[in-house]
Amino acid sequence: MTVRVRFAPSPTGYLHIGSARTALFNWIYARRHGGKFLLRIEDTDRIRSEERFLKEILDSLKWLGIDWDEEPIRQSDRFTIYRKAAEEIVKQGLGYREGDAYIFKVEKGRAIEVDDMIHGKIVFNTDEIKDQVMIKSDGSPVYNFCCVIDDAYLRITHIIRGDDHVSNTPKQILFYEALGLEVPKFGHMPLIMGPDGSKLSKRHGGVAVEEYRKEGFLPEALINYLLLLGWSPGGDREIIPLGEAVKLFDINNMKGVQAKFDIQKLKWINGEYIAAKKDEELLPLIKKYMADEGKEINAPDELLVKVINLYKVRIKTLSEFGNLTDYFFSDKYSIDEKGAEKYLKSAESKQLLQEFASKIDKLSEFSHTSLETACRLMAEEKKIKAASIIHPTRVAVSGKTTGAGLFEIMEVLGKEKALERIRKAAG
Ligand code: GLU
Repeated sequence: MTVRVRFAPSPTGYLHIGSARTALFNWIYARRHGGKFLLRIEDTDRIRSEERFLKEILDSLKWLGIDWDEEPIRQSDRFTIYRKAAEEIVKQGLGYREGDAYIFKVEKGRAIEVDDMIHGKIVFNTDEIKDQVMIKSDGSPVYNFCCVIDDAYLRITHIIRGDDHVSNTPKQILFYEALGLEVPKFGHMPLIMGPDGSKLSKRHGGVAVEEYRKEGFLPEALINYLLLLGWSPGGDREIIPLGEAVKLFDINNMKGVQAKFDIQKLKWINGEYIAAKKDEELLPLIKKYMADEGKEINAPDELLVKVINLYKVRIKTLSEFGNLTDYFFSDKYSIDEKGAEKYLKSAESKQLLQEFASKIDKLSEFSHTSLETACRLMAEEKKIKAASIIHPTRVAVSGKTTGAGLFEIMEVLGKEKALERIRKAAG
């Protein structure tokens, strides 16, 4: 049996990270088992469904690297099929009409057993299930009904989705039976929770995949994080590239995994992915990110690559890059006023800067090692700590009190620029 799974977004909003996780686990299940991953557009709500949402959902999936097989189907193209199926059910005496609506009659007193791939056995009693509307009086089909018809049409073998659909499962099973269709396997994942333990929502911050892209997360880092929100590769491993996850994935390891959203952990993972990239790989990513944000950096690639090398281990998101490194690319950079007050104001600092400037002006080579040696020698001569020279110099050349190694920064800035800024601060 070839595995066939699907992701069935409703284009009534952006791609929520919870839905992205659902898509990811279906995708990984398909890839793990050499199966197919399909898309179905659940656009039965003709008022709330919009093309721009569909486009964004598809763009977000592509950005994440979740590709699909076969041409997606759309429920809005299939209303006649749903109606015919509902008519058939009524004809067989398994349902009835109520005006223009078609209703399915639920047989009471039955137990419906589901062998959930994640939760194990779940038993439902049909006494708790009301008769189910199949087609509403406005002619539109109800989710549980058309979902079953389409999952059967697409020959779906496994349905992996969020726990919010657990209560739909027995209703769908009743429809499979009524239509004489084979019931697929179900697996329900715990919903992603916010830090306060309630279902992750806008209140907790960003929920759309697109927002994470805009904040400078890398798709592979977000994917890695979403993987951990439902599955564990075993041990304490947290950095797990998708390609490897596909090989290791076992749905049995999804049991009992907590799914609490932790933005700090996501940022940490993102930082790890950024730091692990080659400078040359980050170059186009940073350039595109800055351009998309309307903050294009006007600098030669050669300089950008050097700055990326200094800062890639210090940023958690691409969005942090611009502000931390502005002083390399323009003389109009942000200044930490408190830092300037603390390190540049006193006469002693100005004197030290003046002296340091004349020392490094004489260096035959303006490299981080020669700069460091010059700084240490001057500190020894004057019997002061190197930090007393380093702090004011850092603020003078970068406007900031923290950042990459000062001497590396100065080397990249170059002798002319560095001296000009130090002398200016020395007043
Ligand atoms: N359109 C449904 C949703 O967004 C799909 C549910 C399912 O996977 O069956 O939740």
